[in-house]
Amino acid sequence: MGVKSKNGKLIKFTTLNGILLQSVYAGYNSSPRLLDGETVKIKDFDGLISLETFNKNQKIIKGDMRELTPSDDELYPLKHTLICSKCGKPIRASAPRTGSGKKSPRYHCCEKGHGSIGVAEMHQLFVDYIREITPNDGTIKLFKEIVKRTAAKKLGDTNKELSKCRVEITNIDSKLNSALDALLEGKIDQKEKARYTDALMIKRNELDQKILELEKTQRISESTIEYVCNFIAKPAKLWLDSDLESRQAFQTTMFPNGLHFDVKERKFGTDDLSPLYSVICNKKESDSDSNSSMVGQVGIEPALYP
Ligand SMILES: [Zn+2]
Repeated sequence: MGVKSKNGKLIKFTTLNGILLQSVYAGYNSSPRLLDGETVKIKDFDGLISLETFNKNQKIIKGDMRELTPSDDELYPLKHTLICSKCGKPIRASAPRTGSGKKSPRYHCCEKGHGSIGVAEMHQLFVDYIREITPNDGTIKLFKEIVKRTAAKKLGDTNKELSKCRVEITNIDSKLNSALDALLEGKIDQKEKARYTDALMIKRNELDQKILELEKTQRISESTIEYVCNFIAKPAKLWLDSDLESRQAFQTTMFPNGLHFDVKERKFGTDDLSPLYSVICNKKESDSDSNSSMVGQVGIEPALYP
């Protein structure tokens, strides 16, 4: 996927392996004090992958493939996305037995005569379709530039705000110190000191919270943007490589209201793409739209894939 390390080089296999072995990415801690394989949920962090995916990865790393037969849902990743264009009902999935007794997993509409299609063919058609709506290199470059500039502006504001908070904390700390000095020198008593410092401590805690929030924003770095843009640039490849959860999340992002498909004609609907995505996509339709002064300038390049 072109993920690079801090020094800009592609990450090594050992690094990747190290990452895959760490349950923290699933939002769980494992410690030597715990039983082998036992994990503890991390408070306030849900992880980047599901525990299910993490456990699956451990099996693959150990070479244990026995339990890796896909679940029913995994066989039909498009199940909750596809809609029959003839009747508007969700397209179902099932695996009827063929004449020879073998299972044949298929997508179909439950209305009679609306057709059915094997999963392999359907998935191929879907991948071909998302390749077709993939933005060209020029558009992605432009999009990246806009996102980076917006983020840089936001980062500048965040940094200003952060240093303001830190100065305030330093001020509070020096006030707290003078209060302690005053107490030690007998200028004020314990009660007076508490009254003065309690309010300061509350303010200090608030600032600490604010700093944590701002630091989160600060972490949205250029590499994060790069990663997100890669996602937009290679949807077909990512869809093929993803697990069920990511596929479904991705499908919902691209087709928030489902994707219409004419099972008989093997044709996708053209108006289902999310507006967010279609803005940066060079849909083929826009090419024929001679009234648009914007798209006329931009060539539609065929997407290239490995
Ligand atoms: Zn139908």
